[in-house]
Amino acid sequence: HVEASIPEPQRAAWTKHQVGGFKDKDAFESEVVRHVETTLARSLYNCDETAAYSATALAFRDRLILEWNRTQQRQTFSDSKRVYYLSLEFLMGRALDNAMLNVEQKDLAKDGLAELGFRVEDVIQQEHDAALGNGGLGRLAACFLDSLASLNYPAWGYGLRYRYGIFKQEIIDGYQVEVPDYWLDFNPWEFPRHDVTVDIQFYGKVLTETNDKGNAISQWEGGETVKAVAYDVPIPGYATPTTNNLRLWSSKAASGEFDFQKFNSGEYESSVADQQRAETISAVLYPNDNLDRGKELRLKQQYFWVAASLYDIVRRFKKTRRPWREFPDQVAIQLNDTHPTLAIVELQRILIDLEGLEWDEAWNIVVNTFGYTNHTVLPEALEKWSVPLIENLLPRHLQIIYDINLYFLQTVERDFPGDSDLLRDVSIVEESEPKMIRMAYLAIVGSHKVNGVAELHSELIRTTIFKDFVRIFGPDKFTNVTNGITPRRWLHQANPRLSELIASKTGGHGFLKDLTALNKLELYIDDKDFRKEWAEIKYANKVRLAKHIKATTGVTVNPAALFDVQVKRIHEYKRQQMNIFGAIHRYLELKAMSPEQRQKQMRRVSIFGGKAAPGYWMAKQIIHLINSVGAVVNNDKDIGDLLKVVFLEDYNVSKAEMIVPASDISEHISTAGTEASGTSNMKFVLNGGLIIGTCDGANIEITREVSQDNIFLFGHLSEEVDDLRYAHHSGDHVVDPKLVGVFEEIENGRFGNPKDFSDLISAVRDHGDYYLVSDDFSSYVDSHAAVDEAYRDQEGWITKCITSVSRMGFFSSDRCINEYAEGIWNVEPLDTTKDKTA
Ligand code: PLP
Repeated sequence: HVEASIPEPQRAAWTKHQVGGFKDKDAFESEVVRHVETTLARSLYNCDETAAYSATALAFRDRLILEWNRTQQRQTFSDSKRVYYLSLEFLMGRALDNAMLNVEQKDLAKDGLAELGFRVEDVIQQEHDAALGNGGLGRLAACFLDSLASLNYPAWGYGLRYRYGIFKQEIIDGYQVEVPDYWLDFNPWEFPRHDVTVDIQFYGKVLTETNDKGNAISQWEGGETVKAVAYDVPIPGYATPTTNNLRLWSSKAASGEFDFQKFNSGEYESSVADQQRAETISAVLYPNDNLDRGKELRLKQQYFWVAASLYDIVRRFKKTRRPWREFPDQVAIQLNDTHPTLAIVELQRILIDLEGLEWDEAWNIVVNTFGYTNHTVLPEALEKWSVPLIENLLPRHLQIIYDINLYFLQTVERDFPGDSDLLRDVSIVEESEPKMIRMAYLAIVGSHKVNGVAELHSELIRTTIFKDFVRIFGPDKFTNVTNGITPRRWLHQANPRLSELIASKTGGHGFLKDLTALNKLELYIDDKDFRKEWAEIKYANKVRLAKHIKATTGVTVNPAALFDVQVKRIHEYKRQQMNIFGAIHRYLELKAMSPEQRQKQMRRVSIFGGKAAPGYWMAKQIIHLINSVGAVVNNDKDIGDLLKVVFLEDYNVSKAEMIVPASDISEHISTAGTEASGTSNMKFVLNGGLIIGTCDGANIEITREVSQDNIFLFGHLSEEVDDLRYAHHSGDHVVDPKLVGVFEEIENGRFGNPKDFSDLISAVRDHGDYYLVSDDFSSYVDSHAAVDEAYRDQEGWITKCITSVSRMGFFSSDRCINEYAEGIWNVEPLDTTKDKTA
C-alpha cells in the first residue's frame, strides 16, 4: 500500500513535465553550460577545469537522481525484501568517472566536453576522493554497493557522513605528516535531506514500571539529544537503470540553534558549545585500520549511526502495515564487522520497550534479521567496550545486553550442564576490571549467520576465536563468503585499454557483468597481435606511473624495469618491514658485485605506498626507513636504474586506480593467518600483474584459480605460526644470516641515524619476532630471485599474466553479493523491466 502525495487530478501535470535527463551529446552540453552559467554563476570567460568538473558532475547527478527516484518507487511498489548494509566506512573514491561508465555515457561526455574545450581525463582528475574509510573493509563496502546496484538488488547502504575522511598523508623529510581531509567544500554527489531527521538520545536513566499484567516495563529517558540528518548519495548500477541509495548521517544540535539566553548574557563560548559537541559526533573518521581504541566518541558515533539507521528502516517497514513477525521477510541487515553491533540491541529495545513485544518474539525477529561479517582474528582489532562506559552513555542498552547474555548463557548451561569454563569463555561480558562487553560475541549471538571473508579466514574463526560458538550453535551458523572486487571500477575504469582489448576478444563488454567470461581469453594465448597489444598496455600503464613518480618524488624510474609494488595500510602484520629489508639485501648484493656481474641483474623499482595510523609508532618507522633507503639507493651511481626505491605519498582509491594497472609483481606478504582476505591482491592480478605472497587470506584461493605456476608463494603456513612463536620465546631464535647482514648495515648508519630504526630491528631480534620476519626472510629472498628469473623470459611472463587474468572470474564482487543474497539474506534481484510505476 503506497500513497502518492499528489492527488489524481493533478498527476497529469506531473507526468507531462517529467524530466528525462540528457539523452545525447547536445543535451549533455546544454546541461553543462546551464550548470556553469546558473548553478555555478560562471561563464565562458572564467570556466576552468574545476568548474567544468562541477558542471559535468551536476549534469550526471541530475540524471542519476531521476533513475534513483524511479528505483526507489519500483522497490517500494514491488514490496520486496530489502538489504541494508551497515558499514562505518565507505571508501568510495571518485564518483564522476564511475557514474559516466556505469550509465554508459563516457564517450558522449568525452566528445561533449571536447566541444566545450576540455579533456575528459583532466576533468575527472579535479574530483576529490570520497575517502570515508581506512582500507580494505571500507573499500569492500564500496565494491558491494556497486554490485548490489548492478545486480538490481533492492539495497541501501547506511554510514556516517564524516566531515573529515581519512587524513591526507604528506611525506616531509621522509616522515609521514597528517593533514586533515576536508572534502565537503563542494560535493555534488550528495543530497541533503533536511526533512529526514532522527532525534538520537544519549545518557540519561531507565525508568521501570509494572504494567497490568505484572510485567516490568522499562523506558529510557535520555539526558541529551542530538539530531541525525540524512544525506543521500546515488549509487548507479552498471548497464541497468537501478540506482540505489547510500544514506549517510550527519550530526547536528537537536535544537538546531545555540543557546540564545546564554548568548545574550555574554557567555558566547558556552552558548555554542552544545552545538559544537553535537556536530563533533560525525566530524571525523577514526584513522585506525585493524585496531580498536575504545574511545567514548567512537561509541557515540556507533550508536548515533545505528540508531538513526534503524529508526529509518523500522519507519519504512511500518509503512507496509505488516505484522512484526514479518520484519525479517522484509528486512535483512548486514553488519560490516562489529562496529554496528549495537543495532542488535537497539532493534530489541525498539521491539520490547517501544512496540510492546514479548522478549522471545522480539529476539526471534532480531536474530533472523541480522548477519555478521567478521573481518579479522587479530586480538588488538576485536572490539570491546567497557561496561561503565556503556552504562553511562546507553544505560538501557546495557540492561538489554545483560539480558541477552543471561538468556544465552541459560541455553548454554542447559545444553552443556556444569561446564563453567565454557560459560566464562563464551559470556558476552568479560569478567575483567572493568568488565568489558565483547562485541563479536554479541554479534554472533544476535545474528543468524556469521561469515568470514576468505576460506582460510572462515576456517580460522571456526577453529580458533569462535570455536566454542560452533559447539553451541552448530556449524551451519558459520559460513564463508570470499571477498570480491567490482570489475567496473577495477578494470573498466582503472584500465580502459585492457578492458577494450578484453571486450574485443570475449564478444563485447559482457564480461563486466559476468566476469567468468574472462576464461575466453585463454583461446588467444598464442595470438601474436593480442599478446603484443597486451604488453603495450602494461608498458603504457607503467609509463603513466613513472611520470607520476617523477612528478611527486623527483625520482626517475625506467618503465622497462620490473615494477614491484606494495601499496596498502602500513602494518607490522602486512610486513612492509620485510619488504624494505629485502630491498636493502638486494642493494647490498648489487654493491658487492663486479660492474659486469651487476649489469646482468634485473632492473627493479620497489614501489611502496600506504598510510600509517597517526598513533602507530612502528608503522611510522617503517615509512621513515623506506624513505631513508630510497634516499641512499636512488642516488648511488653504482646502482643506476638497477634498483630504485620510492614511497608514493597519500595512497588512496584514485591513486590505486593508477598504480594497480602498472604493476608487474605486487606483494601480499602478511604473516600466514593474519590477513583475513585482502582485496588488492585480486585487483593486481585482474590487471595483468603477478603476485608474490604468503599462504594467507585470498592468496590461497587466487592460487587455486590461477594455479601454482602463476603465483610466487613463499613462507611458513598458518598452522606453523604458533609453534614458531613459541620456539622464539623458548630461546632458540636465531636471526636469518641474510637479515643479520641487513641489520648491520642499518646499525652502521648507512641509511641515516640507526636510532631511528632500532625498534624495527629489536622487534625481530630481541622481542620474539611476533610476525616471523626472520623465519620467512630467506624463502622471501629466494622467491624474489624466482620472480627475476621468470621476468627475464618475457614471453613466458606474458603467458602467465594472460592465463591468470582469464581465471579471475571468481573474484567479482557480483559473485560475493549473489552468495550473500542466497545464503544469508534470502533476497532476490528486482526485475527492472516490469516497472509498475512507468
Ligand atoms: N586502501 C585502498 C585505497 C585500496 O584501494 C585498497 C584496495 O584496493 C586497500 C586499501 C586494501 O588493500 P589490501 O587488500 O592490500 O589490504
